[in-house]
Amino acid sequence: MLSMNVPFVSFGPFEEKVKTELKDAFERVLQNSWYIDGKEDVSFEKKFSEYIGTRWCIGVGNGLDALMLALKSLGIGKGDEVIVPSNTFIATALAVSNVGATIVFVEPDIETYNINPELIEEKITERTKAIIPVHLYGLACEMDEIMKIANKYNLHVIEDCAQAHGAMYGNRKVGSFGIASCFSFYPGKNLGALGDAGAVVTEDKKIYEDIKSLRNYGSDRKYHHIYEGYNSRLDEMQAAFLSAKLPYLDEVNDDRKHIAARYLEGICNRELIMPRKTDKSDHVWHIFAIRSKRRDELKQWLSDNGIMTGIHYPTPIYLQDCYKHLGIKKGTFPIADELSNTELSLPMFFGMTEEQIDYVVERINSFK
Ligand SMILES: *Cc1c(COP(=O)(O)O)cnc(C)c1O
Repeated sequence: MLSMNVPFVSFGPFEEKVKTELKDAFERVLQNSWYIDGKEDVSFEKKFSEYIGTRWCIGVGNGLDALMLALKSLGIGKGDEVIVPSNTFIATALAVSNVGATIVFVEPDIETYNINPELIEEKITERTKAIIPVHLYGLACEMDEIMKIANKYNLHVIEDCAQAHGAMYGNRKVGSFGIASCFSFYPGKNLGALGDAGAVVTEDKKIYEDIKSLRNYGSDRKYHHIYEGYNSRLDEMQAAFLSAKLPYLDEVNDDRKHIAARYLEGICNRELIMPRKTDKSDHVWHIFAIRSKRRDELKQWLSDNGIMTGIHYPTPIYLQDCYKHLGIKKGTFPIADELSNTELSLPMFFGMTEEQIDYVVERINSFK
């Protein structure tokens, strides 16, 4: 087989497809000469909340702010505990510590890599206020089990949907289960802006109004401030780009599902553990995560063959320098440790060619 270069991610094919829509969006915003807090934001919020199936959407500056503002709007802060998975992108944990609350890690299920509902209850105390399930790698969490526990203990559920735009759980989209659900539109996400952007969706009018105010210096009207707020708005340009891309999100996810299906049927290497999903949980394959005891060797070998891969994530959050003060001993979260040592993310992006997919499959199967 001829050798070729396969990037880990490429924005090229999708941007080529929506080039006209993106240019029109840019022209429209420039024509309006209005860049913050305008009709593009309002229009995207309406379309996105309709897409997810919630009443309200608030565009914000990025995914981390979406999580922080959701926590703030629920009055969560110092003295409160929030449950988060031990293996996720660090933003999930940073949102909790940035509002002054205490992070309580729960290990993922070793099959799905999502937070293990069976391990949540033992971590609940009088101080627990919320659970943040993360639909990691694009796979919907076991929301029935999580909502059951949350209802039993009267806890808020804030969904972190940053990796799972459009994923279904049963017949509902992720983001429609929690009291507030948070999205990132970082360029590499399944729905990405051409810069930083994020959103919170909710059914709750009070949360909607509070986050609208919090994102805009805590004001409810000009120069009148009811909260010590932030500056985290979704600017008009990014909102317009997102409106241009949103109609293609399902097609993008279908293409990712096609690539994943090809990997799943083609890769047969006994040393590897392939990703799994459950019947109820849809997977939109933000990341195609395989596992290997010889992960670093495999990564190097693929790289030598022109195939770029990623690791999500190389250091568990509880061992990051910024959380040294938590004093959590190495080995406390063995599944997070295991994932950090064995996980490898294969190339996955809209427009990957059949030849590229075949090449990745063939090279992985030849790894000895
Ligand atoms: C990307 C991501 C975030 C943060 O989003 P930003 O827009 O980069 O701030 C939060 N949580 C998860 C799981 C993510 O993957």
